[in-house]
Amino acid sequence: MEEYDVAVLGAGPAGSSAARAAAQAGARVVVLDRAAFPRYKTCGGGLIGPSLRALPGAPPVRAAITRVSLSLDGRRRRTRVVDEPCLQMVTRPELDVWLLDRAAAAGAEVRVPCRFVSLDDDVVTTDAGSFRAGVVVAADGTSSRLAREVGVRLGHVDLGLELELEAGPQAERWADRVHLDWGPLPGSYAWVFPKGDTLTVGVIAARGLGDATRRYLRDVVTRLGLDGLRVVHDSGHLTRCRTPDSPLGRGRVLLAGDAAGLLEPWTREGISFATRSGALAGAAAAGGPDGAVERYRAGLAVELLPEMAAGERCLRAFERRPWAFHELIRSTSVGWHQFARITRGDTTLARAVERRPVRAGLGLLSLPDRPLLS
Ligand SMILES: Cc1cc2nc3c(=O)[nH]c(=O)nc-3n(C[C@H](O)[C@H](O)[C@H](O)COP(=O)(O)OP(=O)(O)OC[C@H]3O[C@@H](n4cnc5c(N)ncnc54)[C@H](O)[C@@H]3O)c2cc1C
Repeated sequence: MEEYDVAVLGAGPAGSSAARAAAQAGARVVVLDRAAFPRYKTCGGGLIGPSLRALPGAPPVRAAITRVSLSLDGRRRRTRVVDEPCLQMVTRPELDVWLLDRAAAAGAEVRVPCRFVSLDDDVVTTDAGSFRAGVVVAADGTSSRLAREVGVRLGHVDLGLELELEAGPQAERWADRVHLDWGPLPGSYAWVFPKGDTLTVGVIAARGLGDATRRYLRDVVTRLGLDGLRVVHDSGHLTRCRTPDSPLGRGRVLLAGDAAGLLEPWTREGISFATRSGALAGAAAAGGPDGAVERYRAGLAVELLPEMAAGERCLRAFERRPWAFHELIRSTSVGWHQFARITRGDTTLARAVERRPVRAGLGLLSLPDRPLLS
């Protein structure tokens, strides 16, 4: 039976980053994915500064964003402009192939398509045979089997719905512009992200509100005059956020990216969490199974876990008073500049919410509504 130091399950941003980091640290690595690449993944493909910085070089970018139009459930629109791009847009098939190529170039062996079936001690069984691995990084997304076995606990689960539209005559209008709409369902929002010849239109809201979420997507498409465009993909996918005490691995298994529920809870930005947690998991795994989970947790505690806690605080306030967030970004220069600085990666949400006025503001916005007379 073949033997590896590290086996990585799933070749999304978390898996490829883990495989690359482990191979760079000198480990014998195999990374496998059930899909043949390139494969489609429901995702806006929006890269914030921390995502770009965590990548091994310049990814294949489709659009650089300098204009952000904003609305509150279709009303109170405004377009804000920045000099330097505050977001970059990629398609996931292109990004993920590019990342997997970098893992292979670092020395990881790639097996696709190859489905993970089970782990029994150090024996990894797939639909194409078995092998041994000292450490297993489960980066197989929201339906991860090992995450279930390890006992990941989730604070919330959301459903994202997306349409990929052929941009056609609208391509120029959206060349450097995204649209964000703060939605009618608690914690929901919608986006239009341009990719040159296509546009990704999506909405996200708590799981269990399927009909209302679908209606919200239809409304956004109609309001923005996108309803005549040809639909290239129509899909949905879950996002999930771990609880602060959820396990990050057990024994020889480490969980990375969506499998671990590592995601920014407010915006549900997950690519930077996947690439950064993947790289940390790969580096921890390369050191062998003894103490791997502790090394990994220590790495996550530096940046990612505080960023999740900050996102959670923003989400609590945003769920109660989306209009306050809208007005802050739409109408105040402080709010807009903070927003652009966070998306560009000049500061982090964790640092922003530690500022006393921001902390106090979030506290007030998170208070429940009180009736005037009781
Ligand atoms: C609608 C929507 C829009 C989003 N938009 C953005 C955005 O604009 N920006 C952003 O930063 N984040 C966004 N996210 C979040 C982002 O897509 C995820 O957080 C990110 O893809 C997580 O990466 P990952 O590598 O952990 O998992 P994935 O990208 O899901 O990769 C997991 C891989 O595991 C493979 N796999 C699964 N099961 C098996 C198995 N049994 N055997 C082998 N392989 C397996 C899958 O084929 C897949 O390739 C969005 C999410 C949704 C739902």
